[in-house]
Amino acid sequence: MDKHVVIVGSGLGGLTCGYILAKNGYRVSILEKNAQLGGCLQNFVRHGVKFETGMHYIGSMEKGQTLHKFFTYLALLPDVKIRSLDKAAYDVISIAGERFAFANGADNFVASLAQRFPDERRSLQRYMQTIKQVADESPLHSLRRIDNIALLNLDYIKRSASEFIESTTSNTLLRQVLAGNLPLYAGVKRKTPLYIHALVNNFYNESTYRIAGGSDVIAKSLVRSIRAMGGSVRPLAQVVGIACDDSKAVSVTLKSGEEVSGDYFISNIHPMRTVELLDTHLIRKSYRQRIACLQNTVSNFTVYIHFKKNTTPYLNSNLYHYNEPNVWEGGGYDKNKWPGSFLYMHLCSSIDQQHADAAILMTYMNFDEVAQWEGTGIGRRGEDYEAFKVQKAERMLDELEKQMPGTRTNIERYYTSTPLTYRDYTGTEKGSMYGILRDCSEPAQTVVSQRTRIPNLLQTGQNINSHGILGVIIGAVITSGELLGINAILKQIVNDNQ
Ligand SMILES: Cc1cc2nc3c(=O)[nH]c(=O)nc-3n(C[C@H](O)[C@H](O)[C@H](O)COP(=O)(O)OP(=O)(O)OC[C@H]3O[C@@H](n4cnc5c(N)ncnc54)[C@H](O)[C@@H]3O)c2cc1C
Repeated sequence: MDKHVVIVGSGLGGLTCGYILAKNGYRVSILEKNAQLGGCLQNFVRHGVKFETGMHYIGSMEKGQTLHKFFTYLALLPDVKIRSLDKAAYDVISIAGERFAFANGADNFVASLAQRFPDERRSLQRYMQTIKQVADESPLHSLRRIDNIALLNLDYIKRSASEFIESTTSNTLLRQVLAGNLPLYAGVKRKTPLYIHALVNNFYNESTYRIAGGSDVIAKSLVRSIRAMGGSVRPLAQVVGIACDDSKAVSVTLKSGEEVSGDYFISNIHPMRTVELLDTHLIRKSYRQRIACLQNTVSNFTVYIHFKKNTTPYLNSNLYHYNEPNVWEGGGYDKNKWPGSFLYMHLCSSIDQQHADAAILMTYMNFDEVAQWEGTGIGRRGEDYEAFKVQKAERMLDELEKQMPGTRTNIERYYTSTPLTYRDYTGTEKGSMYGILRDCSEPAQTVVSQRTRIPNLLQTGQNINSHGILGVIIGAVITSGELLGINAILKQIVNDNQ
């Protein structure tokens, strides 16, 4: 066959498409603007300690579970070492001084929360039934043959997660608890669809793991496999234009001036960035306008903590803390009370570590807070920007200290990132964490198709299907399915797992 597919961006979506297509006889070239491959799978090392930037924990990784099946197909299992989070408390939701544990498995989840909410046991059972049902009914999550264009029940798409939770229980505190890990999808009240909440929660409820040694191992493994199959993956190869003739795309131009031609093109970058690369009548003005008007999920401010050696026992749970019972606050936070919430987690450097070397402390931050440095580049933003970051980090560490007393004295040093960091490292619009915000009241308008008006230009990544490790891998199956047939890929995955 030997048709040439050029992929713009080496995020998880680009690498997964590259793997699937190379495995099926396509010649693959992946072009990445950064020195490090992997997009949000990038890690960085400072003073000998490694930090994750955008993939902290994964789910459904026990044999027979969905992500494990995809990892088998992608030949990731030999390279990726994982460590289970506490099965009785993988996520701990802390609201206004009280803590609630999410336990793995539907029954354990219900039993754990029913201890605190004994009258809500039936409601919790119904809640978990729906969570499971959404995932079970999705053919792509259950790896069933797809005979119908509609991949999900419309009710899961048109109903909001917040309305679903409210319909489950009238207990206002329990409503907050059930939505407590919503930073995982940067949920917005009345907008984020039920299916996103359900798929994310089902994914982690099945089983929950950290990747030992950092999530860059996933990118490295995929890159190695793609190269072994004859594909090329090139860092420092920024695409600055996609050239088209009268009917199709013909080549991409790199910043260096080099042109790379191909038979098919896949863009793994944010749709707004893709549209900017296209100077052709094949893309209509109305499409450009629609993409430009899409709202994105909020960005974040992160403190990367390096602990003094052997001072901090490894914490096997993720802590989602809220000062007040307003978990849906998101990007609408009150600047005077910032940070009203945070996510705190230790990083896993090995499968048997006793002490943590590093942790992540993260909260929401809107791009407007850093807009004054918009025109600056990495490492050259000026002293006032550095002072801004220190001031914000200190406020966050003060809040952490209230919840985890004694942590501050264990800190050797710390680093920070802002919405500008994410914008510049991944090219995501305004540093948005998870790309385009899905809105259940405008489902068709807020979903970006893997197809474009240009027949041989496809899109992949977190803006297609959904974000996160499973959402992006499934999105890559959908995109690659345009060339190979989606059922053919599903069959290969099922066969590889037999
Ligand atoms: C803070 C944070 C925490 C997260 N935590 C988790 C988690 O715990 N678990 C989980 O499952 N998911 C998590 N996610 C989500 C997950 O990391 C992402 O959904 C996923 O990795 C996105 O993959 P992608 O394929 O869309 O590409 P991206 O990672 O966005 O990569 C796009 C790539 O394209 C490159 N690029 C951009 N423009 C160009 C150009 N012009 N030319 C060439 N290359 C270009 C970029 O440099 C980048 O490498 C998190 C995300 C964030 C931001």
